[in-house]
This record gives sequence, structure tokens and C-alpha cells, in this order.
Amino acid sequence: MHTKIIATIGPACREKHMITKLVQAGVRIFRLNFSHGSADDFKDIFVRIRDVEQETGTNLTILQDLSGPKIRTGDLRQSPMSVNTGDEVSMGPSEYLEDYPQYIPFDHERILADLRVGDIVRVSDGGLKFEVTERQDRIVKLLAADTGIITSRKGVSFPGIKTSISALTEKDKKDLTDGLRMGIDAVALSFVQGPEDIAEAKDIIEDQGMWIPVVAKLEREIALRRLEEIIDICDAVMVARGDLGLECPLPSLPTLQKRIISSCNEAAKPVIVATQMLLSMVQNPMPTRAETTDVANAVLDGADCLMLSEETAIGQYPLESVCYMGEIAEQAEKLFFEKGISPVKPKKEGGETFLAFAACLMAQKVEAKALVAHTDSGFTARLISSCRPLQPIYGLSPNVNMQKYMNFSWGVLSVNISEDPKDHLQRTEKFVENYPSFSPGDKLVITAGHPTAGQERSLTNLLKIYRK
Ligand code: PGA
Ligand code: MN
Repeated sequence: MHTKIIATIGPACREKHMITKLVQAGVRIFRLNFSHGSADDFKDIFVRIRDVEQETGTNLTILQDLSGPKIRTGDLRQSPMSVNTGDEVSMGPSEYLEDYPQYIPFDHERILADLRVGDIVRVSDGGLKFEVTERQDRIVKLLAADTGIITSRKGVSFPGIKTSISALTEKDKKDLTDGLRMGIDAVALSFVQGPEDIAEAKDIIEDQGMWIPVVAKLEREIALRRLEEIIDICDAVMVARGDLGLECPLPSLPTLQKRIISSCNEAAKPVIVATQMLLSMVQNPMPTRAETTDVANAVLDGADCLMLSEETAIGQYPLESVCYMGEIAEQAEKLFFEKGISPVKPKKEGGETFLAFAACLMAQKVEAKALVAHTDSGFTARLISSCRPLQPIYGLSPNVNMQKYMNFSWGVLSVNISEDPKDHLQRTEKFVENYPSFSPGDKLVITAGHPTAGQERSLTNLLKIYRK
């Protein structure tokens, strides 16, 4: 299978035997959801995943998912509170709770200050829509566009409004430093608004003298307006359909997913499709027909990774969910190859891009067993992956962070390679010679950086057909 599966850790899969089974069924990345805990809570699981990694000999990536500024109402005077279309409801600090008949306590005063007449506010995780009709000192008046109920501490969203709240809360900053100390391999940022949020996380990581990939979770409408800039600075993207589906009209979600994926493919940045992929499997041992189709379509859209959330975290069938996801993905890949669209010609111009595409064409022409890419920055492996070749891509790097990062890329098997010998081509050939799955007579297509005499290093500039 070329597509990567991400499983969210939770009570349903936290035991070692289950983690092992999930890996055997194809999981390569485990998500620790910091909306439900801190580094201390994940310590044991972290060690368990590392143990399974050793025991199975499979490179596993541990992804820390920061909770971000999920914005909620305060405690209502009476929960639930009924709202009817046309009602005038007030929203403001909790201290005025007793002063208005219908009042939504909301203690994020900076966000309130950003609201203008005509803005839309969604309460109850998107369930109820309101329009701002009036601003008073610290209170805003809302006109209800829907009928329904609101309960205490429900999610509130402001579609299309850039709030002056950074994607990194104080809790997130602490979680990130604690996570780095624990040894997380990647971090995901929730409710990203723009490239500066990613830059902020990158600064924190750099301050610790480290580098790990930063995943931008696209779940705010405002972020989509700066999609290219965000893709440019982040290392991977998540189409976070749960919260994105609250911010954007649901009918637009499928096409948004396709647009985001194709922009990521074009930029050779791994992209994850997340949320409700096999949701019914929380309770049922088999998915709905619509879910099987959704998973297959995500692969055909160009997703690198597919993510499971509740399905593996709290569901009754975590292993069955992973198995179904893997089997559906495999069928979708088969169709993709049958259609003859592989390798995909990259849209972007440039020497490195062309070399990666040429490597894929070459692998096809000589019926190579695999593509083998030596890569310091992971860039060449990502470029080759973005061409979606039929052959597996072995991404060789002496850098552990890169090995973990390459796990996000479609079709890439990351390999730890020693720095000896110094020459990258010799190093790569040594790997091919010793690798037991390659047999004498097999052809491999190798890419590597081979510096001109007198120069210290080089970007990937070499393409070789190697016959073992
Ligand atoms: P979450 O993010 O599960 O952390 O909310 C994913 C999403 O919103 O889809
Ligand atoms: Mn979310």
C-alpha cells in the first residue's frame, strides 16, 4: 500500500497488543490528541509506541496534535437554552449573565472586539447561525437565523473572520515544548489562520535547537484565502474536515478538499484527509457504502495520508477500521494505476522536479523494482512521491527527523542509512547491495546528490539505473 494511515490514540487502542496490530494492519503514524491531555498523560503510550517500533522494525511517526484556540461559550444561566429564528440574543462577558433575558456568556473579549455588524457567528459547534446586528460597549446583539438549543461550553466559530488570537495558545506552547522534550516526531497546529502561525511554531522548535515537521490543520475559512503561503511554509497539511465543515458551507467541503489536495500535490507537500472517514465504524464492524467511497475518493484525489479519529481512539472496532481503510486505499490505488495516469507529470517547472519525474519514467521503462532516493532534506523523496509512481520509493537519510517526516509521503519507505561511506551514491549502492528484498538481477532507479570535485555537497543531480 502506498497511502499512509494515521491512527488517533485513545482508550480503544492504547494497549501495546492493539498498537502492534494496528501497525501490522498498516498504520505508520500515531496521533496524540492534546485536546484530551498533556505530555504527562501520553508518556506511557509514547514509550509503548517506541517499543512497538523496535519490535516490528517499522519506522513509526508520533504526531502531536495541539488543541489550538478552540473557542467555547461560558456556562449558561440555564442549560440548555432554547433559541428561535428571529430572536435577539446578547453575547458578552459572563459577568452580565443576569442582566439579559437571552444571554450567551463569552469570555474572549478580544474576539468580541473584532466583531462587526453583519458578521456571522455560529454556536453549538456550527449548529446555530446568528448575525451581528448591533455593537454595544462590551456586548454584541445577535439575530438568530435558526431554531434550536444551546448548551453550556459549546464551540463557537466566526466564519471568515480573522481573530487576533494566535493559533498557539499558552497551553499549546507548553505542550509543544513538553512534547519536544518527550521526543515527538511531528506537530500539528489547529485552527491555523495564516503563515505566521506556522512561523511561530517553527521558532519555538528552533529555540529548542530542533527540527520537526509542522502540519497545518486547515479548519478555518480564513486560512483557505492564504492557502499557497501556508503550504509554502508548513511541512504537511491536514484537511481537517470536522471543524472546516463548521466554518464553510458543507456542500463546498468536497470541492475544498479537492482544491487543497491538488495545491499540496503541486507543491510536493504531503496532505492528510481527516475526520469522519469511517465514523460509523465506531459502533459497527463494517463501514457504510458512502464511507468506503469517501476513503477511495480521497486516495484518488491525491491524499498522501488518511486519518482515523474516533474510529481508533474510542471506537469498538479500531483494528477493523484500519483494515477496511487499508483495503479500500489499495483498491483505489489499483484503479489509479490501471488508468495509466502514473507517473503524474509535475506542474511545476525546475531541474529537481524534472529529475524526479524522469526517475519515475525511467523506473517504468526499465520495470524497476523500486526507486531509491538518497535525500538530506527529504525534498527529492517528496518530489518523486508527488509523481505517484507504481514502484515503492525508498527514502534514504541518515537524519532521523527526515526519516520520520518521510513517513507522511505517499509511497515512501523511509530508511535509516549510516553516514559511511561519505559519498551518497556509494552509500545508496551499498544499501541496495545489502537489502534482502532486492534480488540479483533486479533493476533499481537511484537518485542522489553527487558534488562536483572540490565541492562539499550537492543537491540531487544524479539518476542511475542500477542492476543488482
Ligand atoms: P480535531 O481536528 O479532530 O482535532 O478537531 C480535525 C478536524 O477538525 O477535522
Ligand atoms: Mn479540528
